[in-house]
Amino acid sequence: MDEKVTIFDKIKNKEMKAQIVYEDETVLAFHDISPQAPVHVLVIPQHKVVGFSTLTEESDAFVGAFIKGVARVAKQLGLEEGYRIVFNSGRHGQQTVDYIHAHIVGGRQLNWPPG
Ligand code: 5GP
Repeated sequence: MDEKVTIFDKIKNKEMKAQIVYEDETVLAFHDISPQAPVHVLVIPQHKVVGFSTLTEESDAFVGAFIKGVARVAKQLGLEEGYRIVFNSGRHGQQTVDYIHAHIVGGRQLNWPPG
């Protein structure tokens, strides 16, 4: 995957508007433009990684920091009844934006399997 500029780069650089719900030195979180549940927030790392396919043996610190950042966002959203964290990866996984991101989905009863 080549590292082209994505909409999430533009949101991070404040060149594109988004409804930001949380930001710190590690992650940026904003509402999905096409929500699939009452709460549907995207979390990106401040340090860009394209996706799971570009993670390496050197990525441990990044992964740990990012996942903990996603957990901070989830806590901030106050979804006491639970939520789902989704990572779409690659073409079959329907990853449409080549900037790694977690979907936090909640605010209603979710179904399993997701289909
Ligand atoms: P993916 O399919 O790559 O896992 O998820 C990309 C997500 O980004 C989709 O859920 C889509 O609705 C969302 N999205 C696409 N364009 C924009 C945008 O311009 N702003 C925001 N906030 N979300 C977007």
